Amino acid sequence: MPHINRYKDISPSINGHKKTIPYVNGHKATPRGPHILNVLEQRYNARFYEAIATIMALRKSYLQNRYIFVRGDDMVPILKGLGAREDDFELIQEISDLTGPDPTLDYRSVTYGRYCIDPETRSIRRLEQQPYTLTVQEDYKRHDSGIPRMFDEAPSDMQGNTVVQSLMLFKALVFQGVPVTPRNRLDYSSPAWICTMFNARTHTSKNNGIFGEPALEGVHSDGSDHTMTVFLGSNNMRPDSAVTFMHDNEETTGVQTWETNPTLIRARVHHQHFLDTLMFVDHDFKHSVTSVHQLDAAQPATRDMLVVFTRRPKLEGHVSGYADTMELHTTEPLQLPMWLP
Ligand code: FE
Repeated sequence: MPHINRYKDISPSINGHKKTIPYVNGHKATPRGPHILNVLEQRYNARFYEAIATIMALRKSYLQNRYIFVRGDDMVPILKGLGAREDDFELIQEISDLTGPDPTLDYRSVTYGRYCIDPETRSIRRLEQQPYTLTVQEDYKRHDSGIPRMFDEAPSDMQGNTVVQSLMLFKALVFQGVPVTPRNRLDYSSPAWICTMFNARTHTSKNNGIFGEPALEGVHSDGSDHTMTVFLGSNNMRPDSAVTFMHDNEETTGVQTWETNPTLIRARVHHQHFLDTLMFVDHDFKHSVTSVHQLDAAQPATRDMLVVFTRRPKLEGHVSGYADTMELHTTEPLQLPMWLP
């Protein structure tokens, strides 16, 4: 990974703005005990049933339209209904402070974790780390296509947040039983799902030559079955930044949003408020995201997201070059019970 120090290399030049990017890999947040979401304890709560009813209505819409966009205000009662703790709604807005340098991009900091969503044992478990690889064959055309990438691992303050956990559960409840167009060499006979969760902070600081592109690759696919993106917050971001477009699969992979054919645009969504959530059937669309711009040009801008990819396990012979391991994570384990209808 030749560019691993690229972010660090440019850091000295941002000294003038020390106050705004001190947290890149800074581990600023103080450690808190991780919590485990226990949805089973919610079963006798009225708000649990209200949340399930809302989720099932969203699922219906997802089945029909192949994507849903849920406003953050509507996500809050759903996640609380699944058991997310009140204080974690505050804390989740700080987890992106824990992100570390991206090996191939200078404008992004990231942590990631791999989880198994297992309907058979009705649990979600953290799996050991594996590189993340996307290839041109999966409609991902970028300078790092086909390169196995490793990022800082999701820390316990991040995965131990019950809002993060309830988002994984929410997603599983929405896509459960939704048919998708199969991708090559994913094991659709397996009952298990692999969920890769990224916490990504995009930075823009023009004075320092940092231009935040939530999707530098232009029009692309994520190589997953179901993709979910959740807005956690932003700082000094111009309000017209980071608009997501969903394109018909006919659109050319790798072109920038402004070069796309408007007749092939299937949806436009804009994450603007805390917990605004987009979910889509990845293989049914390609997508692109516009740049992150600064509001005050003298200060850096940041945009914090959770990006959650879920797909069936990779088989040997998958184009990325390896199959998923199902080994549990030994140093940062997580296991939470899952409720499914
Ligand atoms: Fe994407």
